[in-house]
Amino acid sequence: MEFNEFITSLGRTIEYLLTGQSNFRLGGTSEFAVANVIDNEVQAKMALKEVRLYLKENFSIEILQPVIIKLGQVQTLDWKSRLTSGFFHIGNCSTKQMGHITAHEITVVPGLERVKFKSVICHELTHAFQSEKRLLRNFKGYKEGMARWTEYHFLLDHQQVEEAQKLRRFEMVILGKMLNKILEFEKEHGREATSRWLQEMELET
Ligand SMILES: [Zn+2]
Repeated sequence: MEFNEFITSLGRTIEYLLTGQSNFRLGGTSEFAVANVIDNEVQAKMALKEVRLYLKENFSIEILQPVIIKLGQVQTLDWKSRLTSGFFHIGNCSTKQMGHITAHEITVVPGLERVKFKSVICHELTHAFQSEKRLLRNFKGYKEGMARWTEYHFLLDHQQVEEAQKLRRFEMVILGKMLNKILEFEKEHGREATSRWLQEMELET
């Protein structure tokens, strides 16, 4: 065994003994290098920046108000929201008043694999966009569906076919089936028209 390998495995063992988990690597990547698992706020901010660019380029979604990103446990929702929005709460987006400025605060659980983490941000940023533009407030199903729609494409565009398909299978959750409706619409009319359709839905009532 090479010396480096030996030290690395020793490091892992010690870390495992101390924390019950191990990500130890010799020479450890700087926190500014691209990490595979997002567990600090520098990485989270980098991921946020990348996803904002993705949403802008692929969905013309731009968020104007400041976005704060936090790693932490997501607030537990009441049973009603659980029932309607699904059972997996790894991300959340809410607004926060900072003086005269309204900011979006996105919370994501730490320790997610990078692409997965970014797909959650993609979903939550779409909610931030909806709240800024006051979209779909009377269409909760489509509101959730639209966020899953960008998340779905993000996953597909990053070779996460299996994860993307999982989103389509959330039919049993009350709000879950709208993603499939949106995808059907997109297949027929294209992305731009789909985006317009969703953004204008509220105005038509
Ligand atoms: Zn959502």
